[in-house]
Parts: sequence; C-alpha cells; structure tokens
Amino acid sequence: MTNPILELHDICYSYHSLEGETDALSHISFQVKKGEFLAIVGPSGCGKSTLLSIISGLLLPESGEICFPVPQGEESDKHPMAGGCPRIGYMLQHDHLFEWRTIYRNVILGLEINRQLTEGKKQRVMELLKDYGLDKFKDKKPGELSGGMKQRAALIRTLALDPEILLLDEPFSALDYQTRLSVSSDICGIIRSAKKTAILVTHDLSEAISLADRILVLSKRPATIKCDIPIRLTISGHSPLASRNAPEYQGYFNQLWKEISDEDHIQTAKIIQPDAE
Ligand code: ADP
Ligand code: MG
Repeated sequence: MTNPILELHDICYSYHSLEGETDALSHISFQVKKGEFLAIVGPSGCGKSTLLSIISGLLLPESGEICFPVPQGEESDKHPMAGGCPRIGYMLQHDHLFEWRTIYRNVILGLEINRQLTEGKKQRVMELLKDYGLDKFKDKKPGELSGGMKQRAALIRTLALDPEILLLDEPFSALDYQTRLSVSSDICGIIRSAKKTAILVTHDLSEAISLADRILVLSKRPATIKCDIPIRLTISGHSPLASRNAPEYQGYFNQLWKEISDEDHIQTAKIIQPDAE
C-alpha cells in the first residue's frame, strides 16, 4: 500500500430543516491509502451514511476539505474534489435492481446512463458476469434470483464503471445471517482481487474485523472519530470466514465493543444476560 488516495480534513456537516438543525459530522479527518479496505462502524444515526455521501460528492461539506491526492510524479500535489473525480462507486443497503430489466440490462445501466456502453465495456460486463457466476442468469429478472445473487449483480453494476474508490453502505444488512456470511466473503474476495480501494459502513463488528485492513469507530452524533484501529490477523489469505478463527479476532472484538458501548448498552447487555458469568 502506498500513497493516500483520499484525505478528509476537518469535515463538518449539519442538516438544516424547518424543524431545526441536526449536527451530523464534527471535525472528521482521516486518510485512505490506495488499495486499502477501510470499515466504518458507529451507533445507528451517528452520521455514517452522511460521511459516505460527502465522500461521494452527493453532499458538500459545510467546512473542511476533501482531497484526492494525485499520484506521485504528477504536477500538482492535491486537487480538491471537483466534477466527481476520481471515479467513485456507491453501493447501498438494498440492491436497487429494476424488476422490469433483465440482470444484464440492470448491470449495464450505469454505463448506459454515462454513455459509456462501448463494445469493450459490454465484453467486460460479460466477463464479470461469468467470473461471478451470473452469466447463466443474465436474461432473468431480479425477482428470479436469490438475495445474494442480486447483491452480486449490484456489485457488478458498480464495478462495470471501473471505480477507483468503492463506497459500500451496509450492503449486506438486508440479507439473512447465513447468506450474509457467504455473500460478504464473496464480495470481499471480488473487491480484493480487483485491487479496489473500499470503504465499508457496517454495524456488524465481526464483519468489520473479518473484512477490513483498518476500522474507524465513530462516536454518537455528531460523529467524531473515536479511534482508528489497524487490523492485523495472523491468518493466511483474506477469507472473512477463516479470519473469524484468527487468535487476534476476539481481542479486536472486545476492543471495538468497548469503544462503541456507552453506559446504556452495557446496562442492557447485563439485563439480557443475567447468568452470563
Ligand atoms: P447513520 O448512517 O450513521 O445511521 P445518517 O448519516 O443517515 O446516520 O444520519 C445522521 C443523522 O442525520 C441522523 O440523526 C439522521 O436522522 C439525520 N439525517 C439524515 N439525513 C437527513 C436529512 N436529509 N435531513 C435531516 N436530517 C437527516
Ligand atoms: Mg446509514
């Protein structure tokens, strides 16, 4: 891993509505290196999705700056985000596939909208469908596929645009637990083999530890960075299922649990598990 591909400096953001002001992000600063897999965890409603929307350029920060440093050897040091540069792929909790389009036509939708549907890109999409086991389903409608297959199709639609940074906002939370384990493992493998930089928002601590190189823990709203934990597991490869058996896994889990638990959570845990000693 080399230079940062993304830098956030002192980002603040509040929502303004007729009911008043909601402070969502407070003085957030961090960097992401090229090829890094970063997970972001934090309490519900703390500002995680807001942070991804700011990185994607859908929302503009009220103060602070986002930079995408240009590779070494090029002229200027940094350029503030402008015009959606670099290419960012954004994958949401729900697959948002259109039922009236086949899987193939769903997967090429982004390319169509961006007027990039060249013969080369069509070929690339077919390769991705084949690599990820969906080529036989390309003429099916989303309703004919399992939840995991639909999520894979949504990822291929995002990858078809060849993003440099992938933003994943709780992409597995609509799946049942077993499917979630295998799909997250699957999708993590795809992202790693494509050598993409990825930022994953999740509320599942095990998922964060088993998938990420590094975890940012956010505080309650307005979100600040509580801690930044590099994950080093002594286990070969990056299989998320195998990672859960790494000797360091439980230590990281306890550390994260301690960071995100406030007094109320601890109280609740004690009430739920009265015999847990
Ligand atoms: P998270 O993804 O961590 O659950 P969000 O980033 O979605 O949290 O939201 C952070 C806070 O901002 C929440 O309190 C939410 O209710 C509020 N919020 C989100 N979107 C809007 C909006 N469009 N207008 C007003 N408040 C919003
Ligand atoms: Mg959210």
